[in-house]
Amino acid sequence: MAYKDPQSPKAKAAGRRNSALFRQRHPERVAAVKRACYLKSYVPKGQPPPIDRIMAKVEVVDGCWLFQGAKRSGYGQISVEGKNKQAHRVSYEVNVGPIPEGLELDHLCRATNCVNPDHLEPVTHAENIRRAHAS
Ligand SMILES: [Zn+2]
Repeated sequence: MAYKDPQSPKAKAAGRRNSALFRQRHPERVAAVKRACYLKSYVPKGQPPPIDRIMAKVEVVDGCWLFQGAKRSGYGQISVEGKNKQAHRVSYEVNVGPIPEGLELDHLCRATNCVNPDHLEPVTHAENIRRAHAS
């Protein structure tokens, strides 16, 4: 069957009807749609978008957006489509853009639960470790 604009209600209904087959045949399209939805318009059942849920739990202190929700190893955690994601990475992707493949986000402010994209810089793992030891 013809692939239609994933945003239209008709296509959504068709997608549901044929989802298993569609996913099997077009994994790359499913991934692209998922990514676009996650970054922009996708709203999980009855929930606000991930970035809104993050910002609802942020306390601004000296320019840092300190995430007060669930944390793991000091990093804010947020559930996106049933998967745990690091809140600062979601904030960066929504506010700035995709994090380059293989890079980590360094907190320039050294506050691991800060989700202010201005305080985040994509660096290699080695550089991140080097900075952590230098500070
Ligand atoms: Zn900060």
